[in-house]
Amino acid sequence: MIRFENVSISFGSFRALDHVSLEISSGEFVGLIGPNGSGKSTLIRLINGLLLPSEGKVIVDGLDTAKDDLFEIRKRAAALFQNPDNQIVAATVEDEVAFGPENLMLHPEEIRRRVEDALNFVDMLHFKDRLTANLSGGQKQRVAFASVIAMESPVYLFDEPTSLIDLQGRKKIIEIIGKLHKKEKTILLVSHFLEEIFLAPRVIVLHEGSVVFDGSPRTLLYRDDVLKLLDFPLPVHLETARHFGLVPEILDLKNVAQALRRKLQ
Ligand code: ADP
Ligand code: MG
Repeated sequence: MIRFENVSISFGSFRALDHVSLEISSGEFVGLIGPNGSGKSTLIRLINGLLLPSEGKVIVDGLDTAKDDLFEIRKRAAALFQNPDNQIVAATVEDEVAFGPENLMLHPEEIRRRVEDALNFVDMLHFKDRLTANLSGGQKQRVAFASVIAMESPVYLFDEPTSLIDLQGRKKIIEIIGKLHKKEKTILLVSHFLEEIFLAPRVIVLHEGSVVFDGSPRTLLYRDDVLKLLDFPLPVHLETARHFGLVPEILDLKNVAQALRRKLQ
C-alpha cells in the first residue's frame, strides 16, 4: 500500500531522511518512533505528498507522489497532524467534520452520512452542534480524528495525535485507532509514547533519518542498542516485562500483568 524506494530528502545541506526503503501492506498497523528531529513528520509528509523526495520514490497505492495527482493520493492516505488547533477550521463540530468530504465533492446525503458515522466512531455525535472553540483539548482531538475518519480513506497517517492531551484523552484516541485497525485500515502512528507504539504489531524506529529497527515490539523490547537511541524511558509495565523476560502477544499493561502472574505462579 505504501512503498519507499531508497528515499532521501534534504533541506538545504541537511539530510532529513537518508536512503529509506520500506513497505507497509494494506491493513497493517505500524508504530513509528524516533527521537525529536529523526524525520518522522518528514516521512508522513512524504506519504501524502506535502513533501517530495530529493532521491528515490514514494508510492501510495500504486501512485507515485512525484508524478501522480496529489488529490488522488490524499484520498487514499488521510493525515492528522500534531496540533488540532492548527487543523480545526470550522466554527461548529458538524461543519468541521464535513469540511473534508465537501472537498471530495460528495453528494450532500453522503456527506451527512459520513459526518454522523465519523462522529459516532469517536463517540462525539452528541457534540455535533457545538462550537469547536468551546471544546476541551481531548474533545478537539477527537473531532480532528472524526474529520480524518470522514475521508473514509484506506490509509490513515497520525502524527503524534496524543501529544497534547491528558491520559484519559490519550486512552480514548488509542481505542479509536484500535477500532480503525479492526476495520482493516492501514495505519501509521507516530508517537513518542512507547506504551502506544508497543501496541502496534510492527514498529519502525527512525534515528537521524535512517531506519534503525523494523520489527515486532516483542523484539524491540530486548534490543538495548535500539532502545538506547530513543530518548524516552520505558514505561513501568514494559520495564517489568523486560526484567522478567516476558513476551506477551500484546505489550499492554493487562497482558504484561497476566504474563507476570503466570510466571510467578
Ligand atoms: P520529527 O518529526 O522526527 O521530530 P521532522 O521530520 O519534523 O522530525 O524533522 C527532521 C529534521 O528535518 C529536523 O532536524 C528538522 O529541523 C528538519 N526539517 C524538517 N522540515 C524542514 C523544513 N521544511 N526546512 C528545513 N528543515 C526541516
Ligand atoms: Mg514530528
